[in-house]
This record gives sequence, C-alpha cells and structure tokens, in this order.
Amino acid sequence: MTHRIGFVGLGTMGGPMAANLVAAGHRVTGYDLSAEARERAAARGVMIAGSAAEAVGEAEVVLTMLPTGRHVLDSYSELTESAAGALFVDCSTIAVGDARVVADLVRVAGHRAVDAPVSGGVPGAEAASLTFMVGADGPDFAEAEPVLAAMGRRVVHCGTSGAGQAAKICNNMILGISMIAVSEAVVLGESLGLSHQALFDVASTASGQCWALTSNCPVPGPVPASPANRGYAGGFAAALMAKDLGLAAAAATVSDVPAELGGRAAELYAAFAEEAGAGLDFSAIITTLRKDDA
Ligand code: NAD
Repeated sequence: MTHRIGFVGLGTMGGPMAANLVAAGHRVTGYDLSAEARERAAARGVMIAGSAAEAVGEAEVVLTMLPTGRHVLDSYSELTESAAGALFVDCSTIAVGDARVVADLVRVAGHRAVDAPVSGGVPGAEAASLTFMVGADGPDFAEAEPVLAAMGRRVVHCGTSGAGQAAKICNNMILGISMIAVSEAVVLGESLGLSHQALFDVASTASGQCWALTSNCPVPGPVPASPANRGYAGGFAAALMAKDLGLAAAAATVSDVPAELGGRAAELYAAFAEEAGAGLDFSAIITTLRKDDA
C-alpha cells in the first residue's frame, strides 16, 4: 500500500530516506530550509513544496528528520496545524522527554504519533538498510511499520512514546563506551609492544569481542573496511556520538542513574568534537588517548 507522505528535513539522512520512499512507490512531498538539500531531493523524485506546512498539508503520513529536539519542537506546532489527521513519525534523534512532549502535542492536535530514530548512518540511509527503534502504541506501530520498512531492514517496536529514543541512546551509550574501551586497550597494547594484529586476533575471538573492535576497529589493518583505514573519513561522526552521549548523560541525570562511564564518555567525545574531531568517525577518539597526542 502506498501513501501520500510529507517529508520535512531532507538533509544527509532525510534526503536518501525520502528517495527510498519514492522508489517504493509512495508519493513524497518534501521540504528543507536548505535550497541545496531541496535540489538534491528533487533530483531523486521528491516533489518539493514551498514550505514545511505545504509539504504536510495533504499527507497521510508525516516524516521528520531534523537535527535536534529544538528543531522538532519548534516546527511541530505549525506541522500539526497544517496536516489533516496524519500519522506523525519523527526519525530525528532527540531526548526521550522531548519525544514524549512531541507525542502529546501531536495527539492533542488530533493526529497519531510515533518516534522512530535510526541506526545505520548514511550508508544505511542510502541502501534502505537502517534499523528503526520505534516508540508507539500498537495500532500506530502497525501503521508505521510498512512505511519504515521501505527505508530499513529492521523495524523494532520498543514500547510506547519515547521508547524508540530510549533504545537509541542506550545502544549508543554502549557503543561510545566500548569504542573507548577498545581504544584504551589498543594504546596499552602498543606501550607493551603488542601488535595491533595480535591483539585483534585474540580479542576478536575472545571475551573482548565487540562491534567497536570487529567492525569499526580504531586502528588501520585488522579490519580493512573500518574508517581508520581511510583517515577516519566517513563513518559515524564524532559530533553525532557526542550529541547522543550527551542525551544519554542527561537522561541518566533525570532518572538518577549513576552511569559513570557513560558520563565520562560523553565528556571525552564532547571535547574531541570541539577540537579537531567533529567530522571524523568516532573511532578517531583513539588519537586523543595516546600520551604523545595529548
Ligand atoms: P542534517 O543536518 O544533514 O539534516 C537535517 C536537515 O534538516 C538539514 O538539511 C536542515 O536544513 C533541515 N532543517 C532544519 N530545520 C528545518 C525546518 N524547520 N524545516 C525544514 N528543514 C529543516 O542532519 P542528518 O545527519 O540528516 O541528521 C538528522 C537526524 O538524524 C539527527 O537527529 C541525527 O542525530 C540523526 N542521525 C544521523 C545519523 C548520521 O549518520 N548522519 C545517524 C543516525 C541518526
């Protein structure tokens, strides 16, 4: 079944996601503040509206892919006024609390609300292989699932409103901490005369095994496809990891959960993103952990 979809936020992620909806046969009308983003999306079959309000005016499903909770909160009053009984699906990564506020706002205006942040990054958005973590009531999840499936490989129902965002920040807290753990072990191994390959051969098949090591190894060599082999270009930007760990640390504070390693990881990534690392893959954090580079 195809839908009339309004898509707001046609940036790095939203652009290819909207293009995949077009490829699946949906009628997609989109808008972005950036003329360049609008042009790129138009070239991939997205009909471009004159404003965000116009993009969602006749939509059955409204998708948003915006930078932060502030952007989502600022734009939703206008979007919910302009739409006529739509399913609102926010795929941006925002705070759990903000996602719940957004869901209330959407429902009060007479629509249905779903939070569906993603993992898989730009390659996943291009290849329609994203994982969606979804917070929604049962019927709203059932309605959203086939639309999300056109942009991803896995669509996981995590619970009610905000649960998708909760799953996203908890997963990325594991990832951020484990990348620092792998990096510290590699740096310690270097100082003890252990080659990267020897440590990899042991840890990748022993109890130190984790995605940060076996798929995104922070040093060149053992995993040829990891960003470390191309100067940390591409991959998952350290600035986005800093953002997600900041959301996790804030949620831990609100929930009175100590999460000491998560908090420390948030500090390390924030400092790295403020210096030279913002656009580099997050595994480049290893370059700040060697004494010579400190
Ligand atoms: P981006 O900055 O490339 O795209 C966001 C777009 O939103 C921009 O083009 C911007 O012009 C547009 N925008 C902002 N306010 C708007 C408004 N009011 N109306 C219309 N357009 C507006 O960001 P991105 O990398 O696509 O990330 C989007 C979201 O996805 C973020 O929340 C990010 O944390 C999350 N995310 C990104 C990645 C990634 O690898 N890039 C991975 C997972 C999750």
